[in-house]
Amino acid sequence: MKNVKCLKCIKCGKEYEALPDATTCECGGILDVIYDYDYIRENFTPDDISSSDNYTMWRYRPFLPVEEDTVQPPLRVGWSPLYEEPRMAEKLGIRKFWLKDDGLNPTASLKDRASSMGVAKAIEAGYDTIACSSTGNAASSLAGNAAAAGLKTYIFVPERAPIGKVAQLLIFGANVVSVKGNYEETFELSKAAIDEYGWYNRNAAINCYLMEGKKTVALEIAEQLGWKIPDYVALSTGDGCTIAGVWKGFKDLYNAGFTDKLPKLISVQSVNTCPINRAARTGEPWEPMEENTLADSISVGVPRNPDKAINAIVESGGIPVEVTDDEILEAMRITGRECGVFGEPAGVTGMAGLKKLCEEGRIPADASVVAIVTGNGLKDTVNGIKAAGEPVKLEPDIDKFRAYYEQLNK
Ligand SMILES: [Zn+2]
Repeated sequence: MKNVKCLKCIKCGKEYEALPDATTCECGGILDVIYDYDYIRENFTPDDISSSDNYTMWRYRPFLPVEEDTVQPPLRVGWSPLYEEPRMAEKLGIRKFWLKDDGLNPTASLKDRASSMGVAKAIEAGYDTIACSSTGNAASSLAGNAAAAGLKTYIFVPERAPIGKVAQLLIFGANVVSVKGNYEETFELSKAAIDEYGWYNRNAAINCYLMEGKKTVALEIAEQLGWKIPDYVALSTGDGCTIAGVWKGFKDLYNAGFTDKLPKLISVQSVNTCPINRAARTGEPWEPMEENTLADSISVGVPRNPDKAINAIVESGGIPVEVTDDEILEAMRITGRECGVFGEPAGVTGMAGLKKLCEEGRIPADASVVAIVTGNGLKDTVNGIKAAGEPVKLEPDIDKFRAYYEQLNK
């Protein structure tokens, strides 16, 4: 890989050769992929990328840690739409607002970006089986992307995972283990099994390449805005890998001279489960919290990638903000009704946090903001109905309908 220098531990700084099945540092720290930005700058321009006819995340190969002959996995991941939403901007009281709908990926979440990378690296390293633990989306996305590439999967999910996500896993033919425990216990079981059976590890907090897939959402936002960077990017934070990836993506572009600005990141967690935000705000080490929010994808009391995430919030000059479950349900309604985008609870949590900050007057009126919808609402229809309410039920009788219509339009 000409564009990659090495892997470097974020805790002790030890450097490693960028082997495709690298895991964590011997000190236990998470590794980071270190790029040769001079090489990228000398060999690629923004126009090279903009003129690519590969409309997937793999259009960003100059910024991806793969060999030149690494095969792109089959599913079409990335290049999700970035919708400009002037009415929402007006409601929020900001100059410009865009919604990045990453629920439109093949298995309906942003996690497909990490899974596509994980599958590519597993094949590069010569594995035939890949495994992970997940609150749901990483699992369903790994199952789909691995199925398309002909890899076997072992997947560990906590038993509270929504049925839509479990259905995806089973349809994609994964070996699914529904763990009678919380996310932390699920993660530990998957780790023990992976160690014992020697599968390729698609746990984003262990496999540093996955974040490099996730970062493509930031590269896309920049390219879709004509290589201009918004003032703020809002998204939900769970394990910490996604916000860390978003920050890495924007920094890559900046370091390679493709852009001349970095955004501030708005990290949104649940009021009940916010270990990363709390640490980012206070500067104290993070502490475990209970898993207690209906937004299952971010119900992470013991985050596995806290250091990179806290660093992303602090280094970007970002804002940590917490929202209630009711505010998340309200954001589901608003995003659906104003933008025509159906996000799952964690998918719209970024939107919920942004709304709260705007109402508190903490976002300047001349700001430009992107909110990322990280997963599709059809994964969790129970909460969709909770947010939107039940439909009216009528007899097949026009008089009944007329009464209803007149009531409605009074
Ligand atoms: Zn280390």
